[in-house]
Amino acid sequence: MNNLLSDRINQMEESATLAMAKKARELKGQGIDIISLSLGEPDFKTPKHIQEAAKASIDEGKYFAYPPVAGYQDLREAIAKKLRDVNHISEAKAENIVVSTGAKHSIANIFMCMLNEGDEVVIFSPYWVSYAEIIKLAGGVPVLIEGTLENNFKATAQQLKEVLTDKTKAIIYSSPCNPTGSVFSKEELEAIAEVVKSKEDLFVIADEIYELINFTGKHASIAAFPGMFERTITVNGFSKGYAMTGWRVGYICAPLFIAKACEKMQGQFTSGGTGIAQRAALAAISGDHGPSQEMEKAYFKRRELVLEMLRDIPGIKTHVPEGAFYFFPDVSAFFGKTVGDYKIENADDLCLYILEKANVSLVTGAAFGAPDCVRLSYAASEDELKEALKRIKEALAKLS
Ligand code: PMP
Ligand code: GLU
Repeated sequence: MNNLLSDRINQMEESATLAMAKKARELKGQGIDIISLSLGEPDFKTPKHIQEAAKASIDEGKYFAYPPVAGYQDLREAIAKKLRDVNHISEAKAENIVVSTGAKHSIANIFMCMLNEGDEVVIFSPYWVSYAEIIKLAGGVPVLIEGTLENNFKATAQQLKEVLTDKTKAIIYSSPCNPTGSVFSKEELEAIAEVVKSKEDLFVIADEIYELINFTGKHASIAAFPGMFERTITVNGFSKGYAMTGWRVGYICAPLFIAKACEKMQGQFTSGGTGIAQRAALAAISGDHGPSQEMEKAYFKRRELVLEMLRDIPGIKTHVPEGAFYFFPDVSAFFGKTVGDYKIENADDLCLYILEKANVSLVTGAAFGAPDCVRLSYAASEDELKEALKRIKEALAKLS
């Protein structure tokens, strides 16, 4: 029946992260003891004061109707204030903010609004799975610049300079990065900003959704640099730092003409984000950040634990991620190895082998533009992580 569907959807890849999560869920449903390290999803509960704010907003009875398309005014003001006070983006005002149904939706709005057929978008690779598919859906052409394990997977300003063409419309990166956990320093971003400013009408999409999970203690927002506000769309959201994945609230801060375009776009697609979830988001951004800081500390502890265990597995090569909750080890040493009916040709095969034999779900690096790697999410309990890494080590030791 595929020919009854649009080329648009037939040509789209399924989200590899969500596909692996679905597979792990199905196996768990069959009673198999799967440890899921595939989905980038905090294992913590949304902090209590945020839950309470949502409940109170239901009791107030004021938030059941369609919300303003770009988000409630007080939430947009609180976001703009946070961007000015914390991120030093002094130009940020409520009118620059558009609240959407998760940052994924924010990114979809941006590319649908900005790209014409054939426009190029430079993606700093390894990159989050959805960027390339959304760009293609919007008619754009993804152009990858690649970081390597040796430079902490961070592509450079020089690499960016080399791929710019007349058709380059935008660049996109995440920092802290999904899938590598790498964090761009202020100096690295300044160098990137200089390249961007050297070309007319080139925009930056800065995905800062892991801002609150950063072990360097330093988060730099490119929109705060001189001359960059008019060139930058800052993307952020509540899913990661406040453990609010299911509430589906994300936002952008963009130059006014882009914010207005995104508002128009979502006026036709969703009519704006859920009212109650926006009230929860307001409590998150303007309330106590203690719980987020506690979660960050817990992730750091887990990073140390997983790092030690990964270093103890012969054949695995890893860098030290500085943020988010992912490891992105190079597993190419196992390619060409076999055991029983399993022949490991690539990272996809290795993930399947680990899923079936170690009952641990990971995601292939191929989905993130790095086919020598796999992604391991350590947003799981220490006990689960210890058991998972033990199983992975044993399964890998069987390969020869
Ligand atoms: N950007 C990055 C880098 C992500 O990892 C995610 C993960 N979900 C998103 C954006 C989208 O987040 P959400 O839609 O849950 O706000
Ligand atoms: N961003 C998370 C991940 O990379 C959640 C799943 C998704 O939206 O892709 O696993």
